[in-house]
Amino acid sequence: MSQAPPQIIYLDANATTHVLPAAIAAATGAMAEQFGNPSSSHSTGIVARALLDQTRATAAQVIGAGDGHVVFTSGATEGIQTAVLSALRATAQRRAKGLRVGNLLVYGATEHKAVPQALAHWNDLLGLGLELRALPVNAEGQHDLYRLAAWLPDTALLCTMAANNETGVVTDLTAIAQLLSGINSRTLWLVDCVQALGKLPLDLQSTRMDYATFSGHKLYAPKGTGLLYVRRGAPFTPLMAGGGQEGGLRSGTENMPGIAALGAVLNALQQGDTFASPATLRGYRDQLERSLRSAFPAIEFNAPLAHSLPTTLNFSVPGLPGKTLLDVFDAAGLRVSAGSACSAAQSAPSYVLEAMGLPECRSSTAVRLSMGPLASPELVEAACMAIAQCGAVLQAMQAYEGHAMSVATCSAQEIAALTLQWSELDAFLSAHPNARLVDVREATEHQVSQGIQHGAWSAVSAPLSAMGAKDSDWMGQHTAPMVLVCRSGNRSLKAALWLRSLGHTQVRHVHGGLALRPAAQQG
Ligand code: PLP
Repeated sequence: MSQAPPQIIYLDANATTHVLPAAIAAATGAMAEQFGNPSSSHSTGIVARALLDQTRATAAQVIGAGDGHVVFTSGATEGIQTAVLSALRATAQRRAKGLRVGNLLVYGATEHKAVPQALAHWNDLLGLGLELRALPVNAEGQHDLYRLAAWLPDTALLCTMAANNETGVVTDLTAIAQLLSGINSRTLWLVDCVQALGKLPLDLQSTRMDYATFSGHKLYAPKGTGLLYVRRGAPFTPLMAGGGQEGGLRSGTENMPGIAALGAVLNALQQGDTFASPATLRGYRDQLERSLRSAFPAIEFNAPLAHSLPTTLNFSVPGLPGKTLLDVFDAAGLRVSAGSACSAAQSAPSYVLEAMGLPECRSSTAVRLSMGPLASPELVEAACMAIAQCGAVLQAMQAYEGHAMSVATCSAQEIAALTLQWSELDAFLSAHPNARLVDVREATEHQVSQGIQHGAWSAVSAPLSAMGAKDSDWMGQHTAPMVLVCRSGNRSLKAALWLRSLGHTQVRHVHGGLALRPAAQQG
């Protein structure tokens, strides 16, 4: 019988979002009908130019750009490069004229890696030899303003994000602006506003910011789109030279489908009837927070919610590796992330949480749950139900872990004796025709993938999390040989060790699980 897969509950908006239907329609229109080159002087080009100009005007209104420049970019990373290049080249020019320049490039310790990497890159390429300094943050993720005040007189460029992508912590930009205005310095100021758009009020013209960067794909526009705001009068050096598009600020024929799509999102922001308000989002976040507290009573939130984006929750559950949480969430259809998307592939502790002084047990197990402003009551309701379900599964699993044999205490030989490669599976099954193939993933995972079939063998479902339960019939009733399979080989190894500790000598697990299953064997 085929089962419906679990509903996808996407809560990883700080990594990226789907594309707004109106944005898809706008991009399609820009490819099919308004396909002209905005630099062409014929009518087809004029139509495209009108779309470009209109989108820029909308963008300027939405971010409050005033008489500042709004440049279309391929995303925030490009915007950051351009701002850093512009600021550092201006510093080099002042220095060449014998004028006083700051010697420091200061960036918040929790900035997205694009910022310190760009600073190091351009400082090196331009041969400036300025000193990069990470501005520490406190346990709440707020910058150390005393230190900033001391450093500012010697700072050439200051970079502070508007809101953090991992924790959602909102920077006190007003306090930083006050410090900047209080000193008589020529410090340039870049603010990475990627996570602020659509979630926090923006009026850049009323601020002291010189540069601000935005990324389309964090707010329902396609990847490869973005904006750079440049205060009128701030130094500027184009990153790309060529045909002089974007008023010479960024050459290259404009990405019109992307710009049209971004324009649709900006229109929706301007009209105010598509996205949830910050107050509504805060209500959703409170609901999710309550649900998490009830599912995981030991939960610790890693950022103060009162000073965070209304869309982001970052938490750790003592004793639960983030990877375990993610696997179970994933199986229940909940798409969340470990720290930031960029570091999700590595299990390294989050540098953002480390900078906030959190212990390693929290910084390496953190989970980030982030909604976008298209979140709805239905999405939040479904998420709360999935969280409750995951809480129950993980509590059962923890009970099992309490008395199970730990993988860490086993020797490599013991593990090797329990392990089969996929290439050895057929031989093992032929030699043991009474063997059972057992899927130890959660029942939901088993159902979603419609089980595991290997030749004549159909795997029975026996989730690892339920093996320790008192009424489990795996506690010694099965003596026939067993081959255990899971997604990556971790859970099957744990289950094999546990069953062997109960006296099952004919237990094996498949190394690498379904992830390493050769395509030819997939049922
Ligand atoms: N800055 C922040 C805060 C981000 O979250 C991201 C994306 O993860 C970036 C910069 C880079 O943006 P893009 O993917 O548009 O280059």
